[in-house]
Amino acid sequence: MTFKTIDQAGDLTGKRAQVRVDFNLPMQDGKVSDDTRLRAALPTIRALSLRGAKVVLLAHFDRPKGKRVESMSLKPVVQPLADLLQQPVAFADDCVGPDAAKVVDGLENGGVALLENLRFHRGEEANDGDFADELAKLGDLYVNDAFSAAHRAHASTEAIAHRLPAYAGLAMERELDALEAALGNPKRPVIGIVGGSKVSTKLDLLKNLVTKLDKLAIGGGMANTFLYAQGHDVGASYCEKDLAETAREIVRLAGQNNCKLFLPLDIVVAEKMQPGAPARVRGLGEVDEHERILDAGPETVARLKRAIDNSHTLIWNGPIGVFEMPPFDKGTVEAAQHAAALAKAGKLIAVAGGGDTVSALHHAGVAADFTFVSTAGGAFLEWMEGKPLPGVKALDV
Ligand code: ADP
Ligand code: MG
Repeated sequence: MTFKTIDQAGDLTGKRAQVRVDFNLPMQDGKVSDDTRLRAALPTIRALSLRGAKVVLLAHFDRPKGKRVESMSLKPVVQPLADLLQQPVAFADDCVGPDAAKVVDGLENGGVALLENLRFHRGEEANDGDFADELAKLGDLYVNDAFSAAHRAHASTEAIAHRLPAYAGLAMERELDALEAALGNPKRPVIGIVGGSKVSTKLDLLKNLVTKLDKLAIGGGMANTFLYAQGHDVGASYCEKDLAETAREIVRLAGQNNCKLFLPLDIVVAEKMQPGAPARVRGLGEVDEHERILDAGPETVARLKRAIDNSHTLIWNGPIGVFEMPPFDKGTVEAAQHAAALAKAGKLIAVAGGGDTVSALHHAGVAADFTFVSTAGGAFLEWMEGKPLPGVKALDV
């Protein structure tokens, strides 16, 4: 796909740039408790402001379901954002209508305003044309910088993009470039690691990946279902036995698509799923009735590291063990550190995403060394599933 970037937007002096950002951030007692998402939006806001645009920020918070809910106001975001930008941020009590227009009209060139929660209006999530018309009245151009909201066809992510000249913001551009490098048009061989607890939440993802990747390593709880499907005893492990046939189908699909599958060679088991529980390395099928598989074994991890060495690109979603409970973090940490060192040395393009995956990479201390780590959650997973993202598609030129 091709999209326009903000440096192709021409002279922005005095132009109203409506920027869709993701400010759906963690708040505690009415205060922002993690400003990662604010920081992610700064480069685009600054770039537009420096070029003399009037920057109008569109965002949602939580799920007010189409009505005004005071506890879901975006107002608490204003001051932290102003502090980070080191410039004042105006706030409009509504995202459309006369109040919003007044605030936008009052902006100087380079000024920044945040509009109240889009989801206070039913039209936002309904992708309603009339509501999008109202929003578009407040802008001369539209910039989407919220990849994490791009899997939803909402008025501020989809319909508005057809009403104004539309551009990808800097964070969106970076994310799309990274995803293209990992899966769209990767430098081969490309290897995937998919872990996590359940096969059932990642069926579409596995089915798509086996058609795109040269190699796929399956780990974590979901690997148990594959082992069970191949006739191995998994003891008291987490396992979706009803999905055994589906697991076999994925193995077949991988074969048909020349995707080499890596299932565990050995495993780490314990009797209790608890931090510090005594861990034992076992061969496949050597699991006692009361034991659970909680991590990949040393041979499995060594083989995975070699497979990464022999790849140019890695795409990773899902920890390969119960990383929250050491020592069962070992496989995930070792694989993550190995990939990160190669990425840092410029030998591997390493892209990862997913809520727990991001936590695991931070736990391993290597998130910053990966080529790209997506914090987009649902949008990242839908993209890995090969689904078209409406908010991205709407930027296509
Ligand atoms: P993400 O959020 O990155 O998409 P998931 O939510 O799919 O990842 O999976 C993360 C969870 O999978 C973690 O909580 C981890 O403890 C769990 N997990 C990994 N390996 C196992 C295992 N062998 N048994 C049970 N749960 C596991
Ligand atoms: Mg998760």
